[in-house]
Amino acid sequence: MSGSATDRPSGDGDGTRAVRAGLPETVKNEPTLPGPVFAAHFHLPGDVSGPYTYGRDDNPTWTLLERAIGELEAPGRADVETLTFASGMAAISAVLFSQVSAGDAVVLPTDGYQVLPMVRAQLEAYGVEVRTAPTANDAQLDVLDGAKLLWIETPSNPGLDVCDIRRLTEAAHARGALVAVDNTLATPLGQRPLELGADFAVASGTKQLTGHGDVLLGYVVGRDAEAMAAVRRWRKIVGAIPGPMEAWLAHRSIATLQLRVDRQCATALTLAEVLRERPEISGLRYPGLPDDPSHKVAAQQMRRFGCVISFTLPTRARAERFLRALRLVDDATSFGGVRSTAERRRRWGGDPVPEGFIRFSVGAEDPEDLVADVLRALEESAE
Ligand SMILES: *Cc1c(COP(=O)(O)O)cnc(C)c1O
Repeated sequence: MSGSATDRPSGDGDGTRAVRAGLPETVKNEPTLPGPVFAAHFHLPGDVSGPYTYGRDDNPTWTLLERAIGELEAPGRADVETLTFASGMAAISAVLFSQVSAGDAVVLPTDGYQVLPMVRAQLEAYGVEVRTAPTANDAQLDVLDGAKLLWIETPSNPGLDVCDIRRLTEAAHARGALVAVDNTLATPLGQRPLELGADFAVASGTKQLTGHGDVLLGYVVGRDAEAMAAVRRWRKIVGAIPGPMEAWLAHRSIATLQLRVDRQCATALTLAEVLRERPEISGLRYPGLPDDPSHKVAAQQMRRFGCVISFTLPTRARAERFLRALRLVDDATSFGGVRSTAERRRRWGGDPVPEGFIRFSVGAEDPEDLVADVLRALEESAE
C-alpha cells in the first residue's frame, strides 16, 4: 500500500500524483487539462522543425498523456521516455519487432496474454528464435542463455502466477539481454518495473489504467534512449498511433486511477476471502491472499495486487449457469473496468485452463452488493 503521510515528501502520494499527472503549467483562462488536439498536420512554414509537424509523428494530446504515464511508471525520473500506441498489442509489437531481428533469440512466457502465440509465429516467420517458459517459479531463468530480449508478464493473465522481476532482470542483464515487463494487470500503482531493473514497462491502457471499457490504448516506457528511438521509429513506420480523443479520454481517466485501483483491489481481496470458503470452488487464485502461491514474491515487488481473481467451478455447465445468474457482473472479456466482468476463459480456446475456469474482474461496485450477487449466483447455479 502507499506510504503514510510522514514517510514521503508532500504532494508525492499516489492519489496526488494520479490527479496531477501530466498536467501542463496553468495558464489564465485556459483549462487545467487542455482538450484533444485534432490535427493531421500542423502549420510548418520554412525549414522543418519540431515538435509538431505531422499527426503520425507527434501530437500535443499524446505529449501530455505520455508525461502522465511516465510520472506514474517512473516517478521523479527525468531519464525515461514514454510512447503511447493505438492498443496494448501495438505497444508490445513495437518493442519486440524494433528490438530483435533474424538470428536473435527471445524468451516469452508460456502463460502470457492470449495473442502472444501469434506474436511468436510472426517472430519465427522473420527468423527469430522464440523460447518459452512458465511465469511461476522464475522458470524463464533456465532459457536465458544467448537471448536478446526477455519478455515477462507478471502477474500472468489469466493464471495469476508471479515471477521475481528483479531476479530475472539481473540474470538477463548479466547475459546481455534486455527485459520488458507487461505491466497491464498491476498498473503502475501496483508495480513499477523500471525501478525493479527492467528496461521497458509495456502495457495495455485498455484495462485498468483507463478503467471505463471505452478506450483502446497501449504504452511503452523505457530508460534507454537508443532503444526507445527504435520503438519510436517502429511507431512511425507502422502508424499504430492513438487517436487524440482516445488519448485525451485516457488522460482524464488517469485522474481517478488511485481511487479505482484501491477500491477494486480491496473488493477483490474481500471477494477472494469469501470464495475460499465455498466448497464448489477450486483453484482460487489472488496474489493478495496471504497463502496464495504468488503472494510471497508479489508482496516483495507489488504495492497493490490487482483487481483480477480466478477460480474454477466443477463443470462448464455450472460455470455458464453461474455467469448467467450474475446481475451486477457482465459476461464479457477484458478486465480492470469500473463495472465488474467475468468470463469462462475456455470459450476462447487458447489458454490451457479447465472448462469451469472463471476469470473475474472486480469493479467499483459497493463490495457488499457485489459479494451478495456472487453468492446468490453460486446458489442459483447449483444443480
Ligand atoms: C489486454 C492485454 C494486452 C493487449 O492489449 P490491447 O489493448 O487489447 O491490445 C496485452 N497484455 C495483457 C496482459 C493484456 O491483458
